[in-house]
Amino acid sequence: MNVLVLNAGSSSLKYQLINVESQTVMAKGICERVGSGEAFHKHGLDDNEHVIDAPMRDHNEAMALVLEALTSGPTKAIDSLDEIDAIGHRVVQGGKYFDRSVLIDDDVVSKIDELAELAPLHNKAALMGINACREQMPGKPMVAVFDTSFFQTLLPKAYMYPLPYELYEKHSIRKYGAHGTSHRYIAQRAADFLDEPLDDLKIITCHLGNGCSMSAIDHGVAIDTSMGLTPLDGLMMGTRCGAIDPAIVPFIMEHEGLTAAEVNDLMNKQSGLLGISGLSNDLRTVRTASEEGHERAQLAYDMYSYSVKKYIGQYIAVMGGVDVIVLSAGVGENCDKMRRMIFTGLQPLGIKLDLEKNKLRGGEREISTDDSEVQILVIPTNEEYMIALDTFDLMFEGEA
Ligand code: AMP
Repeated sequence: MNVLVLNAGSSSLKYQLINVESQTVMAKGICERVGSGEAFHKHGLDDNEHVIDAPMRDHNEAMALVLEALTSGPTKAIDSLDEIDAIGHRVVQGGKYFDRSVLIDDDVVSKIDELAELAPLHNKAALMGINACREQMPGKPMVAVFDTSFFQTLLPKAYMYPLPYELYEKHSIRKYGAHGTSHRYIAQRAADFLDEPLDDLKIITCHLGNGCSMSAIDHGVAIDTSMGLTPLDGLMMGTRCGAIDPAIVPFIMEHEGLTAAEVNDLMNKQSGLLGISGLSNDLRTVRTASEEGHERAQLAYDMYSYSVKKYIGQYIAVMGGVDVIVLSAGVGENCDKMRRMIFTGLQPLGIKLDLEKNKLRGGEREISTDDSEVQILVIPTNEEYMIALDTFDLMFEGEA
């Protein structure tokens, strides 16, 4: 079964065509700067990538280009759209309505629209993707996979903020989490890797990329996660500050004369590794500069690892222990130095990183010492495959 996986951003449309049974990516690409005069379309697998400058006024026009590239010319992957069996859409905010992936119908569309209040750019973008598919591939089954649904198992004590309760009632202000598809995928893969049931394990999952989040998964159930009402909360990230004293917000507004939108921009786009180092949000750049003695780069590097270390401690406390710690995404998968810094000093908790294994590269792997009580695993994330798999499962649900 071939699933077209779509991840629509406010000015982008990312896609993969995946054959679920063989787990192969048949084609992939991205339309960027949709709606601007500088739009372009990158399509193809790594050894056969084509970049085309192409005018795209909106997601509908972007979708037309994607479908054309999939079915014709040098980048063709299928003969006709009939070979796409279903479409899986990544949707950022599923709110309280969705605790799992669902087949898309009019009711689902109107709920995604209603939830746009909580994630304005993202949910509206997903709707543009859904509408473009409905227009150009009418009747094709579609599934929505939510970033938040994995965390709907959190208890109120974990998801509520100690603010006046009325704000929760009026505006649904609470923790929803994000990156749920990635956390769900890497937790399941970790259990498979260890050949143990997910339900038997206490797992801490760390998605450390440009965006960063961590989760506590207790016997298969997500009980806490670091991102909150929005993906700004929690860990220090590439350009996001993560958790800070909330009183800093009015302080900055008053002393820097900024509006709420401007402070929001500052915390989302000018903070994190970039804000502290003053150099870049890219950890590779920060790492090189810190090794050359750049003090603020060193500080940024230290703060990043310290932030992850603190969450490991929190999640060990809330689960009463941990069996497995899983690292994933750009930094978690690739940066041995950051991993070393994160795990230094955790030996008294039974967490021992093997320094030699830590240097090796590759796919899914264990990097803890043989005598470590806690297994440390690196598991490359694959949100697109998880979306394709959910879509596949929902297509066959009820047939068994
Ligand atoms: P992601 O958002 O998952 O694509 O991750 C992006 C982040 O991963 C960026 O900060 C990159 O600098 C970082 N990254 C990717 N490869 C490496 C590497 N080999 N060493 C250090 N950081 C890396």
